[in-house]
Amino acid sequence: AMNAKASRLGESEAKALVDATETFIFDCDGVIWKGDSLIEGVPETLDLLRSMGKRLIFVTNNSTKSRAGYTKKFESLGLKVNAEEIFSSSFAAAAYLESIDFKKKAYVIGETGILEELDNVGVKHIGGESDADKQVTLKSGELMHHDEDVGAVIVGFDRNINYYKIQYATLCIRENPGCMFIATNTDAVTHLTDAQEWAGNGSMVGAIKGSTKREPIVVGKPAAFMLDYIANKFNIRKDQITMVGDRLDTDILFGNDGGLNTLLVLSGVTTKEMLCSDDNTIAPTNYTDKLADLLCVGKV
Ligand code: PLP
Ligand code: CA
Repeated sequence: AMNAKASRLGESEAKALVDATETFIFDCDGVIWKGDSLIEGVPETLDLLRSMGKRLIFVTNNSTKSRAGYTKKFESLGLKVNAEEIFSSSFAAAAYLESIDFKKKAYVIGETGILEELDNVGVKHIGGESDADKQVTLKSGELMHHDEDVGAVIVGFDRNINYYKIQYATLCIRENPGCMFIATNTDAVTHLTDAQEWAGNGSMVGAIKGSTKREPIVVGKPAAFMLDYIANKFNIRKDQITMVGDRLDTDILFGNDGGLNTLLVLSGVTTKEMLCSDDNTIAPTNYTDKLADLLCVGKV
């Protein structure tokens, strides 16, 4: 028995879906690419949808690159996408601070994507790559000092997370009055390589939750921030958006919670068995094998 009901996308459903959609929001990993390889049929499908006048937007929870970094990645895969069409969780963290007119400093656990996006909105930052090799020296009587002007700690995926960064972030959140705790995303696992699952940013956010007993402000999927930002920026009605994603607990939940039409593709981390499992409570409007299944709407 299937707990979450979803129906396979046939040709007539695909036509109805495309007709009813003004804007497509695509998740990236598992829909457009897998790691560094393009998924079959994607360029043709994006070209077809563009030729039909659809707006195409790309949303990724991966904070390691900035919009500029993703523009290059799209280019390297032979896809022409503008930076303004890309919403990474690194961009979202910076956009969030900009939206509240943040004037203090940010302490960053994360890679270059977040640092570049903070530069773009003029938010001063410390931490990140420059703390990659720092160590905590434990001499009795010595205190670890932190910058009292840090008003936000941002936690994104960081392959050089270390105890120094965890302690620094903890001091800022616990001791600076009003200091915010922002998570780019809370994915439990991530798919750095196809071969296995890897600890995701949820593990890094979890470290800071554990030491501060605070809940983060999440800007990535499935939180509503990016959707509200996009709908507002382009003045789009949410009921005219279709969210296409490969993951139930981020992409499909993001779309369902936001009132979007949702399409699950099985080209990423979710299998038909997972979708149909008794444990799954998240149902997309439709599911299909891959994005290129939408090419049927171009046939006459
Ligand atoms: N975070 C990291 C570090 C990743 O490597 C990935 C996928 O490769 C993601 C998040 C998920 O990205 P997306 O939202 O594009 O599926
Ligand atoms: Ca994905």
